[in-house]
Amino acid sequence: MNENTPRPTDSQPLHSDVLVVGAGIIGLAHAARALDAGYSVTVIDRDHQAVGASVRNFGHACITAQSGELYDIAQQGRPLWLEYAQRAGFWAAEAGAVVVAASETELQVLTELSTAREPGQVTLLSAAQVAAELGREDAAGIIGGARLRDDLRVDPRVTVAKLAAWLDCQDGGAVRWNTAALGFGPGEHRRTRVMTSRGPLEADQVFVCVGHDVDYLYPQLAADHKIRRCALQMARSTPNQPMDLGPAILTATSMLRYEAFTEGPSADKLRAEVAQNQPHLQQIEANVMFTQRPDGSLLLGDSHSYDLTQPPFLAESTTASLLQSIEKILGTSVEIEERWQGVYASSEVGPLLIAEAAPGVTVVSVTAGVGMTLSFGLAERNIASHLAPRQPLVELAR
Ligand SMILES: Cc1cc2nc3c(=O)[nH]c(=O)nc-3n(C[C@H](O)[C@H](O)[C@H](O)COP(=O)(O)OP(=O)(O)OC[C@H]3O[C@@H](n4cnc5c(N)ncnc54)[C@H](O)[C@@H]3O)c2cc1C
Repeated sequence: MNENTPRPTDSQPLHSDVLVVGAGIIGLAHAARALDAGYSVTVIDRDHQAVGASVRNFGHACITAQSGELYDIAQQGRPLWLEYAQRAGFWAAEAGAVVVAASETELQVLTELSTAREPGQVTLLSAAQVAAELGREDAAGIIGGARLRDDLRVDPRVTVAKLAAWLDCQDGGAVRWNTAALGFGPGEHRRTRVMTSRGPLEADQVFVCVGHDVDYLYPQLAADHKIRRCALQMARSTPNQPMDLGPAILTATSMLRYEAFTEGPSADKLRAEVAQNQPHLQQIEANVMFTQRPDGSLLLGDSHSYDLTQPPFLAESTTASLLQSIEKILGTSVEIEERWQGVYASSEVGPLLIAEAAPGVTVVSVTAGVGMTLSFGLAERNIASHLAPRQPLVELAR
């Protein structure tokens, strides 16, 4: 979109086949799939650039550790992540993940997952192999681990910006920043009219992908799905010495947060062990993990706290607990350059909210901390179930 792009007026609302509210990864993935299915797409976001959960996370598509339907969705999205990385020009690595085991119970949980999966998907590692993945000369405190083959990594600081810029350049694609959706109603020709802070827009199909802010637009729907905001403390550090971490690094506390691990027979024993030996981590509902960005800096996290509205205050003791654990795994100290709070939608009802709020208005929110992992697979499914395929506009323009 440039300065000459038409602006909507009350008497003449602009029209596209599909309108997506929210330029986080869920909205952009829906927009990309709709465009490739042959539909014109407008994306609006209230901010001047995306600064939501999709830029505050680890950039980790945690595919291998999903289970059931989420696993299928995550696997469906995997090739799409790689395809759009190529087309939109953002970095994506088939780097997998390494889970560090520091106790026999942790190793047992990893062994159980490895046995349950096809050969090669979850490979057990020796202590020396895990230490090598971490760039450590010694393996003190590590007794083994596992490599999760199918996980992907992207750089969360740039991915959504690149994807949005790419969409905006495609025939039939437009991204309008600083344009907030305020409400929805009937439009002309049975379309939906979206009232925005810059005038009305109309579309045949609207996807509302506003992450944890569903309650601002649809309070009853959010209440029915018991959506709460989960706040996480994160930090970024540049290592003192050269470090080359390909995979995402996960730990025992990560195992307690992903279903593929918690389904195994030893999960309860692991939960009890963490509660006994690392109560400070259990208290902050930690998932001690980290990833390395292409610029070398480390994204470190994280803690979890749940509320309808999140207090903005970051407890220093939480960061200290996370750092202490991470330094132990890395075998070196880390110096913090930045801290931030990330927020995502959470619900005890289930990990996905997909609801027809009105004819032609579909609300999509991932209500668990796996929106990066599920984004493209979920978009693929929602576009296929809401829009009949057409000849792609991108191809028509060639
Ligand atoms: C710290 C942290 C770590 C995480 N780690 C991982 C991980 O390792 N792997 C993983 O898979 N997931 C992870 N997640 C979860 C993942 O980041 C989210 O599930 C995902 O980013 C949600 O994407 P979204 O597009 O729904 O939301 P967001 O990225 O928050 O985007 C929503 C957008 O909607 C816009 N918006 C809101 N209201 C309006 C309105 N009325 N009008 C117009 N625009 C509006 C906002 O401005 C925003 O840009 C993590 C999340 C956090 C916070």
